[in-house]
Amino acid sequence: MEDQNSCRGGFENCLNAQQTAASGLIFKEPFLWEKSRDGRCAMSIPMQDVEHSPLDPELVGDAPNLPQLSELDVVRHYTRLSQWNFGVDSGMYPLGSCTMKYNPKTNEVQASRLGFAGAHPLLDEDLCQGALELIYNLEQYLAEITGMDAVTLQPAAGAHGELAGMLTIHAYHAKQGHQRTKIIIPDTAHGTNPASATLCGYQSVNIHSGDNGILTPEAVAAVMDEETAGIMITNPNTLGLFEENIKEIAQIVHAKGGLVYGDGANLNAIMGIVKPGELGIDVIHLNLHKTFTTPHGGGGPGSGPIAVVKALEPFLPVPRVEKIPCSPNPNQSSKERGNNLNNDKNSYKYTLVYDRPDSMGRLLTFHGHFGILVRAYSYILSMGAKGLTDVSKLAVLNANYIKELLKQDFYLPYDRPCMHECVFTDKFQSDNGVTTLDMAKRIMDYGFHPPTVYFPLVVHGAIMIEPTETESKQTIDQFIHAFKSVAQEAKENPEILKSAPHLPKLSRLDEVSAARKPVLRG
Ligand SMILES: *Cc1c(COP(=O)(O)O)cnc(C)c1O
Repeated sequence: MEDQNSCRGGFENCLNAQQTAASGLIFKEPFLWEKSRDGRCAMSIPMQDVEHSPLDPELVGDAPNLPQLSELDVVRHYTRLSQWNFGVDSGMYPLGSCTMKYNPKTNEVQASRLGFAGAHPLLDEDLCQGALELIYNLEQYLAEITGMDAVTLQPAAGAHGELAGMLTIHAYHAKQGHQRTKIIIPDTAHGTNPASATLCGYQSVNIHSGDNGILTPEAVAAVMDEETAGIMITNPNTLGLFEENIKEIAQIVHAKGGLVYGDGANLNAIMGIVKPGELGIDVIHLNLHKTFTTPHGGGGPGSGPIAVVKALEPFLPVPRVEKIPCSPNPNQSSKERGNNLNNDKNSYKYTLVYDRPDSMGRLLTFHGHFGILVRAYSYILSMGAKGLTDVSKLAVLNANYIKELLKQDFYLPYDRPCMHECVFTDKFQSDNGVTTLDMAKRIMDYGFHPPTVYFPLVVHGAIMIEPTETESKQTIDQFIHAFKSVAQEAKENPEILKSAPHLPKLSRLDEVSAARKPVLRG
């Protein structure tokens, strides 16, 4: 490949980093129509033993123009296309603010069990007691993990959870008899926060973080008033820092009758260590498709439950799943009853409750994205309390390890212990004309997915790295080595970065044209 020759030096550098980003066995793959050969077929059908009877063309119209291929043609086509893709299952995916961690395959097995995967959402509740029990127990677990009193699993994603949280706060103030108009949102909040507040009719009041990247009580006190419904705090914030003043801030907001919304999408950093309920948070959303392992990033379904304090429970969406006492089933033999003694199935059942006059109503059809709930439940049970705590400890350790080893090479705007992710910038490299984008593209030549770039917006030229707890020390060391090599190239051979990536199937794309004039067909 021409590209490759023009960057030989860089290519050797990549190999020195002991990476496996070579393109030798990645095949070109034409469209199925181009591979099609008349008469080729994926199966052999037995000879007909009845007379041939053509279909009436008036009724069926022209035959669809489907490609004609053998089974092997089809298998190779899709297998090759899958090799063009990059995911957590193929390599490290260090996106900041997204927790792209490895999703254990046992969760997939549990979610595809027929009793769960095949259950119709309109089943009578007596016929889906297991599914309801799972919903009920998962809510209990998440309440315990967050230190809150009640949970709903309905929201379909993190941002949907934020909307649910805003609607809860809105319903609460309506019930108090005084609707409020504003929500305080710091500059280190996730971008979805102001969007959700606006969707709920609130006006966002933007405040700045202090010099050390976290919120000060003074900044909140300066804007908090009795027209303000509350504050939305992302904790850890999008700089990967823990909001240490959160308790004091919560007191300031509560003193004026406001509520505290916690964006807990990044619970991966604090799970088992800090309970948001003990920090003064009134409502928080979690991202099951981040912290609690569901494959995401491809736009698939998500799950963003919210957890609330007791006073907000009446506003949660319906139906609620409740566990109610019931009399033993008279048709059950005493032996069956004996088998069930340990799990109290004889004396309780799960039921759907709609009669909640203060509820915000339904947020989603049925009970949320149930398959994701099964995965999260499986993950929590297989990890146990200690396992979940270890997740956070390792996620934080890994991010701090990267931060310490790369801070000589990349400018670290906030040089203090971080949580599960660290934020650098391109300040050291910009003198050589090298940007964050160039370095993110170049890291692909070393076999790594680029980290998050140019986010959070409060830092100019941000490079935001979240290794997660699931990467081994060896992989993290390779990543650090690769990034150090890129920093060295930025000094010695900036040109190689300007035109990177060189080794992937496609080199640098014209992103503006791709966005403005997308070519969606071959
Ligand atoms: C990912 C994320 C969200 C949004 O979650 P979605 O499921 O993508 O809607 C909100 N806040 C933070 C801090 C996040 O990291």
